[in-house]
Amino acid sequence: MDKDMSYGSDYKFIPATSISSGIGIEVLPDIYSHTIQIVNICLVGNPENKDFVLVDAGMPESADEIIAVTEERFGKYNPPKAIVLTHGHFDHVGAIVELIKYWNVPVYAHEMELPYLTGKKSYPEPDPTVEGGMVSKMSPMFPNEPIQLGENVEALPSDGSIPHMPEFRWIHTPGHSEGHVSLFRENDRALIVGDAFVTVKQEYLYKVLTQEQEISGPPRYLTTDWKAAKESVKTLEALKPSVAVTGHGLPMAGELLAKNLRKLVDEFDQIAVPDYGKYLN
Ligand SMILES: [Zn+2]
Ligand SMILES: [Zn+2]
Repeated sequence: MDKDMSYGSDYKFIPATSISSGIGIEVLPDIYSHTIQIVNICLVGNPENKDFVLVDAGMPESADEIIAVTEERFGKYNPPKAIVLTHGHFDHVGAIVELIKYWNVPVYAHEMELPYLTGKKSYPEPDPTVEGGMVSKMSPMFPNEPIQLGENVEALPSDGSIPHMPEFRWIHTPGHSEGHVSLFRENDRALIVGDAFVTVKQEYLYKVLTQEQEISGPPRYLTTDWKAAKESVKTLEALKPSVAVTGHGLPMAGELLAKNLRKLVDEFDQIAVPDYGKYLN
């Protein structure tokens, strides 16, 4: 396996946190969501049969915490079968290089996300002028340069299947990023959303800190295609998920989720789309 990996030159620890930081929630017996500062990672697999996959790779400098949480749940010397990325933003790949080195496992992401993961293309600059709170204002410090995973990252199979997650299929949910995907399991309608929508107003430092539940579109400061983002939320709502584990905010389920998702679709332009910002078209 190719060990020649690196982060972008703008990689750095981001001093932001929430009351959920360091806390894990067993959403379902085989879906465990753990919060790293302000973002969630997800362990998919039942600890009883040992096989599992890690979805997303947390904030910069969080590898030790991710490894500790994972070993606590699945035991030492039991690496995940793979790491699946919903997308490649800094807060979802923050520990990926260390994790690949430690576990020696394959990483999968959507084909359109690969340029950002193989040193070819930077994400657009975060937009500090977008309508929203302090997190938007501090977004210029967020890394947006591509990371380099070389041959350690592969495209998800084009048939919608996900390696080592046989019950799930990936759904292309662009808008927040080009190759953003959400992961859906038909039999119990469990949905791992990524940032296609979130359950906290991620632009506002206070809301992030308190994790007050409130359906929201994708984080504004990094979303560049609002038309696609709206279509993606419609696609996810149509799946009628029973539970949603989002990249930011607490998991949401049942009637509360159904009602809020419906509302987000119906009022997307008011709730999600900012009134001003440089990526409005
Ligand atoms: Zn993101
Ligand atoms: Zn995110």
